[in-house]
Order: sequence, then structure tokens, then C-alpha cells
Amino acid sequence: MRCFKLFTAVTALGTVACWVSVSGHAHFLESQPAASNDRPAAALGAAAAQDDETPGEPADEPLKALLSGRVMLLSEALKQRGIKSYEPEIKGQVVLVTPEQELVPIVPDWRGRAFYQDERLRDRAVELIVNRRRGVPWVQVLSIYMFDDSGVRNITDYWCDVCSIPMYEIKDCECCQAPIRLRLRPQELPKELQNSTRSSKAGSKGPGKADSDGPGKANSGKIGSKGSP
Ligand SMILES: [Zn+2]
Repeated sequence: MRCFKLFTAVTALGTVACWVSVSGHAHFLESQPAASNDRPAAALGAAAAQDDETPGEPADEPLKALLSGRVMLLSEALKQRGIKSYEPEIKGQVVLVTPEQELVPIVPDWRGRAFYQDERLRDRAVELIVNRRRGVPWVQVLSIYMFDDSGVRNITDYWCDVCSIPMYEIKDCECCQAPIRLRLRPQELPKELQNSTRSSKAGSKGPGKADSDGPGKANSGKIGSKGSP
């Protein structure tokens, strides 16, 4: 009986220790995105909440990284590398193809989902601020920068002109239910990431598809001619 009590006490202590470490982890995740970039705190808070998936499992700390390249359908990227695949099983999957020809799959979450929904974001020079985790090839997008024809870096999201609120995926406005538009605004990288940019000239790799979007779909043309770095 005494033995059982001792065991119970040890178990209780273990539980307390576990709880403390889990709380510490949660705190870290909450504090992590605050220093990230220019996105509204609410959006980053949502990201943090969604990050925290399995409390019982000691997840690796996400590492913030800046990646450049072009996002394309996985089927297309595999084809370019001479890898044959059956398309139905990977239909709709997107990857970032880096200048080093690394394929980086994108998590379809609150921010990365836009690449799955909106083909205007694909096959264009982009820089992505992402969270990476050790052992996980998929990255979670935090911010999207697209380069226009003149090589100007634009922070990219969606916008409702009626309500003046940003959104991060294609849908009718959360507030007025009106259609929203893709919004590109010339903007430099956050200061803490400016030194890590490997290829700020990513946009110079040919005109790409920016022009083929057609009038009214995106405002990249207008901004491209006026924008300054
Ligand atoms: Zn609205």
C-alpha cells in the first residue's frame, strides 16, 4: 500500500512537470509570431493557435525562414524533373520550386491555402516567409511577397474595398459578402530578414505570367510601373 502511495505521488509530480513544460511550449508559440512581420496580430495569433497541434507531443520549435522561387502544381514540378506520377493522387498539391530546384510542399492552412485556390499566385517569382520544422518537408506560409514584371517586391493578400479589411484566401468578404480582390503593395522584407534574402532578383527571371492575368484581375501592372523599392 505504501508503495502504491509513493507511486501515486511520483506520478502526480510527473504530471505537474509535464504540465509546466507544455505551458512553456504554448507560451513560446504565442510569443513567436509577434516579432514576425507586418501582418495583423490577429492573423498571427490565429496561426499560433493552429500551430499548436498535439499538446502531448514535444513538437519542434518552428524556425522562421525566407524562401524564394516559384509555386507550382506538384504534378508539373515532378514532370519537369522527369518523374512520372499518377495525377489523381496528387491533384491540386502545390510546391515551391527554389532556385536550387528543391521542391518544398506548402501546408494548405490559413495562409498557404491561397496558393491552392488562386492560380494567379502560381508560376510567378515569390518570396515566402515560412515556418519550418525539423523533419517536416512542408512549410507553413506566414507572408507572401510577389515580384512584378519590373522586379518590385509586393506584399500580397486579399482586400475588401468596401470594408477595408485584409483577408488571406479567396472568398466573399467576411463582413459585407462582396467579392474581394487580390492586393499587391510594394514592400520590402521585414528588417530581420533583409540580410537573409538570397535572391531578391528572383523577379527578373522573365516576364512570367504577370501580364497574362488580364485587366481587372490583379493590380500588379499598375503598381509595377509606379512602385519603388
Ligand atoms: Zn467587405
